[in-house]
Parts: sequence; C-alpha cells; structure tokens
Amino acid sequence: MAAGAPGPVENLVIVGSGPAGYTAAIYAARANLSPVVITGFKDGGIPGGQLMTTTHVENFPGFPDGILGPELMDRIKAQAVRWGTRLVEADADRIDLSQRPFRIEAEGRTIETQAVILATGASANRLGLPSEERFWNAGISACAICDGATPQFRDVELAVVGGGDSACEEAVYLTKYASRVHLIVRGDKLRASKAMADRVLANASIQVHWNRQISDCSGGDWLEAIELRNSVDGSSERLPVRGLFYAIGHTPNTRLVQGQLETDAKGYLITRPGHPETSREGVYAAGDVADAEWRQGITAAGSGCQAALAAERWLTEHDLAVTVSHDPVDPVEVGERVRTAVSDEANFNPEALWQKGSFALRKLYHDSNKPLLVVYTSPTCGPCHVLKPQLKRVLDELGGRALGVEIDIEAEQEIAQQAGVTGTPTVQLFLNKELKQQFKGVKQRSEFKAAIEALL
Ligand code: NDP
Repeated sequence: MAAGAPGPVENLVIVGSGPAGYTAAIYAARANLSPVVITGFKDGGIPGGQLMTTTHVENFPGFPDGILGPELMDRIKAQAVRWGTRLVEADADRIDLSQRPFRIEAEGRTIETQAVILATGASANRLGLPSEERFWNAGISACAICDGATPQFRDVELAVVGGGDSACEEAVYLTKYASRVHLIVRGDKLRASKAMADRVLANASIQVHWNRQISDCSGGDWLEAIELRNSVDGSSERLPVRGLFYAIGHTPNTRLVQGQLETDAKGYLITRPGHPETSREGVYAAGDVADAEWRQGITAAGSGCQAALAAERWLTEHDLAVTVSHDPVDPVEVGERVRTAVSDEANFNPEALWQKGSFALRKLYHDSNKPLLVVYTSPTCGPCHVLKPQLKRVLDELGGRALGVEIDIEAEQEIAQQAGVTGTPTVQLFLNKELKQQFKGVKQRSEFKAAIEALL
C-alpha cells in the first residue's frame, strides 16, 4: 500500500523507543524541537527495547534498590512525553535517506524530517534448531522473564542457553519456578559480568553444562528433551527438560538502512568513535544499533543524549530547525502511576472498564452479557506493559460496550492453568461464557478492536 502524502517537515524523527531513543527525545523535546518518536511495534523486539524483557535493573544510576526494567522504561518514556515528544506507536516500514528532507514511512503515512536519530537497538537471536518452530511457545521461549511464571514451567527441569548476562539472569530467575535449571554454555567460560556469573555458580539449583551445543529438541505437544553435543569429545546426550530459554545475544536492527549507511560486518552502524554521526550528514545513531561492545541501558541513554545534542547543533548550524515554545514553560508533573486494586466483594464494579483478579473474572464471566477481554499477565512481563495501555484504550474507545479483566498468573496460578495459558501476555475474548478468540503476545490495537466489534 502506498503511504499517504507527507505533512509539514519535522525537525527530528527518532526511530526506536529504548533508553537511547527516549533519552534522545527528552533532550530534543527540551530543546523545543518537538521530536517524533517512532516507537516500533513488532519489528526488532518490542517498544521499550530490551529493558522490557529484563527483571531488576540494579546498575542504572538513581535507583539504589534497583528497578524493574519495564518500570524504568515507563518512567523514561513518561519524561519524554511530558516535555512534548510525539509518539507514532508503529513500526517504521521504510526509511529513505537518499534525499532531503529524509522520508520515513510508518502507519501508512510518510513523515519528512530534516534529521534522524536511529535508535532501533538489536533483536534477540534464535538458534534455528530443526524442531524450533514446532516447540516455539510450546516449551521454547525467547523470554524467561515473560514466560517463566506459566504453569507448564513450574516444578520441572528447564534449560537456558547462553553464557552472557542475559542467560545468567534468566537462569537465576527461573530457579524461582523450576525444580532445576540447566545452563547450556557452548564454551568453557561465562561471558557474563563477574557479579552475575558468581550468582550462577553459587546457586545449587543451577547446573552448568560446559562445552555443549544444542543440536535439536523433541517431545509431543510440549517440549520434553533437548539433544546436547559435547564440542570437546563429540559425544551426544539427551537432556529431559520441559522448557528451553534462549539468551544467545542479539543482532542489530539495521535492515531499513542497509545500503544507505555504513555498517560493519555484523550490521552495526558505523559512527565516528565516541560520536553519534553516521556516514550521512543529519543522521545519528544511538544505543545498541551502533554499539556491539558496551550495550548497557545507561550507555544507550548516554548515547541518546549525545545524538540529540549533535542533531540540535546541526539543525541550528544549518538553520533547519523550526522550534516550538512550551506553554506553560514547565509542563505538568507526571506523578506516580496509580495501580488498579484487585477486585473483591467490596470494590467490584460491574460497569468498570478494567478490573483485576479472579473475583471480577468470575462475576463478569457469569453475569455480564458484554464481550469480555481476559488479559493474563505476569508482574515482570515487559510485553504486558506494552499491551495493557493499548487494551485499555480500545475499551475506552468502545465506551463501556466491552469490559476487561487482568489476571496475574503468578498470583492466580490455578486460573491460568484452567485457561491453558502458556505464556504472557495472553488475551482471551469471551462472550456469554464462550471463548471467541485467543491472542498470544502483543498485537495491534486494531486487531482487538475488530474482534470485539464483530461481537457487538
Ligand atoms: P551476549 O552477547 O553478552 O552473550 C551472548 C551469549 O550467547 C554468549 O555467551 C555466547 O557465547 C552465547 N551464544 C551466542 N550464540 C550462540 C549459539 N549459537 N549457541 C550457543 N550459545 C551462543 O548477550 P546478552 O544478551 O547476554 O547481553 C547483551 C548485553 O546486555 C551485554 O552487554 C550484557 O552485559 C547486558 N545485560 C546486562 C544485564 C544486567 O546488567 N542486568 C542483564 C542482561 C544483559 P560465547 O560467550 O561463547 O560467545
């Protein structure tokens, strides 16, 4: 489909919504550049980036007790929006840097912009096992933090593959649920930071298998075992596990600018060392898309700041910026997020658009004749953070003609088991006690809306 005609030329479009993208947005918005952030949706992971699929971030300055990755991202995003960043919550479909202003297609329209910051991050790699597709979401997962709490992974043996910080973090995290965690490491040492590696090696519930490559996996409807090959002596063994979690590094998301900007052999954008300028004037890189080495939330945020300052300087030098002034000068405070209380007899409201817990679920399931969205989440699931506001918006737009209930599968395991939930987020759409449709993972708002409208 051809994208619609462009509107006025933007000063700066930032592609990507991890710590790099949103930090760039905070700086650009405060410089009155009124930046646009194309947050991404599915391409290259999820909006918010890799911190959305991590648990406690304990090394981001300013949070002495640590903070959950998704919560940190919610805060950085809120800060960017507070200062006037405009969001396009979709994937960029095309980026054309061959002419000025640059042109970016997203959400069916073309956005023209004087400057671009690419902060598209990197995506999780897969092993590409022969049976991978068959067991994807049926034992194999790319996100222990999202899926670990699901009933199928409780009190069984699980495996994590990888030897970096992600693998170690996930292995430790999964010991909360598993009877035993096997960490499959292809070499003879862990690449993870010392603190993280020590935690793994000291944990009696984790067994490290050194020098092992996974060659395939097997099972019936659900994963039952993985095949390991010993890379030292060439021997093979079968390891019975009910879950396999991938944590084997990332590939930079540079597909949309391939051939337009200089990249290295692995696809990372090449910038002048210590500077955000790419090989094309007016185009800057921030975060993991140009950083194969440090890859931390704080270094991504720092490089987002550099990119915004460099873009601002360049736009000013070339007299290209059309600045907007803030009125009032200081925007209103964002404040702390108010959490929905779990419903009980006392606070249950049959008309409330969004409630929480099994009490509300039972009441609405039995007594309501409206379409009911049941949203299964877990506390650390980043994609759930992305999805919930989208669903709330759909319910808002439908003005009370459909209702939503959130079930925390960590707190309400039995319900999750009965519902056959295998990962979070899972959304089930009911009408008059009948399951009409099920959605796994993050989907576009329009998909949910269309499914509900078809029932009205
Ligand atoms: P890394 O690239 O650091 O590690 C990837 C791991 O996967 C390596 O151990 C690598 O093995 C292994 N691997 C790669 N391909 C394969 C394969 N085909 N088969 C088997 N094993 C494979 O990625 P991470 O996601 O762990 O970390 C990325 C960045 O994020 C790092 O900078 C890390 O420090 C940071 N991070 C920080 C966290 C924190 O501080 N809380 C949490 C998570 C990540 P090999 O070592 O042999 O190359």
